[in-house]
Amino acid sequence: MITRLSHLFLRTLREDPADAEVPSHKLLVRAGYVRRIAPGVYSWLPLGLRVLREVERVVREEMDGIGAQEIALPALLPREPYEASNRWTEYGDDLFRLKDRRGGDYLLGPTHEEMFAQTVKGELHSYKDFPVTLYQVQTKYRDEARPRAGILRGREFVMKDSYSFDLTDEGLTASYRAHRDAYERILARLGVEYVIVAATSGAMGGSASEEFLAVADVGEDTYVRCAESGYAANVEAVVTAPAEPLPIDGQAPARVVDTPGATTIEALVDWANGPDGIAAVLGREVTAADTLKTIVVKTRTPGGEWELLAIGVPGDREVDPKRLEAALEPAEYELIDEADFAEHPFLVRGYIGPRALQAAGVRYLVDPRVGEGSSWITGADAPDQHITGQVCGRDFHPDGTIEAAEVRDGDPSPDGAGVLTAARGIEVGHVFQLGRKYTDAFELDVLGENGKPVRPTMGSYGIGVSRLVAVIAEQMHDDKGLRWPAEVSPYDVHVVIANKDQAARDGAEALVAELDAAGLTVLFDDRKASPGVKFKDAELLGMPLVVVLGRGWADGTIELRDRLTGETSTAPVDGAAQTVREAVAAQRRG
Ligand code: ATP
Ligand code: MG
Repeated sequence: MITRLSHLFLRTLREDPADAEVPSHKLLVRAGYVRRIAPGVYSWLPLGLRVLREVERVVREEMDGIGAQEIALPALLPREPYEASNRWTEYGDDLFRLKDRRGGDYLLGPTHEEMFAQTVKGELHSYKDFPVTLYQVQTKYRDEARPRAGILRGREFVMKDSYSFDLTDEGLTASYRAHRDAYERILARLGVEYVIVAATSGAMGGSASEEFLAVADVGEDTYVRCAESGYAANVEAVVTAPAEPLPIDGQAPARVVDTPGATTIEALVDWANGPDGIAAVLGREVTAADTLKTIVVKTRTPGGEWELLAIGVPGDREVDPKRLEAALEPAEYELIDEADFAEHPFLVRGYIGPRALQAAGVRYLVDPRVGEGSSWITGADAPDQHITGQVCGRDFHPDGTIEAAEVRDGDPSPDGAGVLTAARGIEVGHVFQLGRKYTDAFELDVLGENGKPVRPTMGSYGIGVSRLVAVIAEQMHDDKGLRWPAEVSPYDVHVVIANKDQAARDGAEALVAELDAAGLTVLFDDRKASPGVKFKDAELLGMPLVVVLGRGWADGTIELRDRLTGETSTAPVDGAAQTVREAVAAQRRG
């Protein structure tokens, strides 16, 4: 197949799009791969669509390889199944809801657990039909709060989602394992550098779950790893070891102290180490970790009312918004504002402590480091006052713990093996052992071997097909432009005529015809433009191999530019097609 640049529906841009911050977004727009239609909604132009199709092909091959069967469900879905699983409500504002002309409620599918459970219920009735795994490559819709970086976080995007149905827990484990292995093969073939991390299961429900994160500084996910043990987790899923309980007997009583102007942790620590402070009594320096900071937010379960929630974390740590969000899911949260302070006068800004909160019946959750018997300096719920020696389990009684405090480089690994280091990534895949949440919701029972009904257990597995296009661009690009691995490149080879001679032109025509006949896909720059413009475009567009018929033509040579290694070599015109084929084959081998 030969595509001539003189005819290709393509316009490259010299300038970065104004709304783009992330390199892959800038380049995919500049190189004419995608175009923005609305926030998080993009069109695929010819080159972009070819990469998307290649990623889909790799994903399909690996799904078919584990025996998954492809079907296609609609994106436009009725409300009822999502009502049965409670996700019509639970999914919250991310769900695109719409009405038909008769007033019926519909949604645009964000993920399809319900529909697959229902489909299997409709078709399969005997244990003999199991296990079964179904998948689709489909356009999904989520009204993301913050669509970002072009196709990286869209509101319309392509996902491969698959669902396994097993009759036993061992079966589910095996299906999960098969998917996990298939995802590893997919990402290896796509040349994506990734880590597998423990994840929370979020709105899906269920138990075991892992994420595949592509390593990238621009990623929105933070993960931590422990070099000693190999432990790796999304920070959202890091579980803090609970503090050992300490004896309460014999601890000094809580005492209200004057701390004028100490509205920050820093000022409070300064006070504590100063002449009126408690450092002298304790016989050691006081640090921020001796203070208990209180953060008040309001939360709302989908469809419910806003209510206050107070969170206590050691003063040397911030609350991590993403950890808090994950801990509260499916409830959402907001910071409290002026109106909330006005409405709840017991909230004394800068001096909030557990006493007033608990008196007012506000739910109060603390970091797991705040153990029974631990002693803290807290706010006294009055201006310019704090309380020292507030002992957990004696002076205040939290309603529970919450994983909301930030995880830091150097924190101990939860498995006790060493310390954690943090890095950023982009979630490209997610594998879940769902269990029976959805088969319960749809009472999906089949006839068991012993004549009694059995309820299948499900796994759900998603991979971000359109997101992967951006991820590959993100990990592979350089300052000149895109660089596609051979596996997903829109074309195998980009042939550039950089010589005005008719003989060179004829030679190029003959070469591309030969390459085409050999089954290669060829992007052919046959335009009447300057070599400089053509070379710049070739670099921007990013085919892995660029073949130039230029000055060397007169001496009987062509030039091969490897966009992946940056290496340039010359080869005789005689046998050029064979040389190019070998170079393409070498790139495909990786
Ligand atoms: P994220 O945390 O990035 O929002 P998610 O946890 O909502 O992702 P899943 O529901 O597990 O994602 O979806 C499966 C896969 O679909 C993700 O691993 C990701 O690759 C892709 N995906 C999810 N949301 C988007 C989006 N808005 N745009 C593009 N791809 C997405
Ligand atoms: Mg999401």
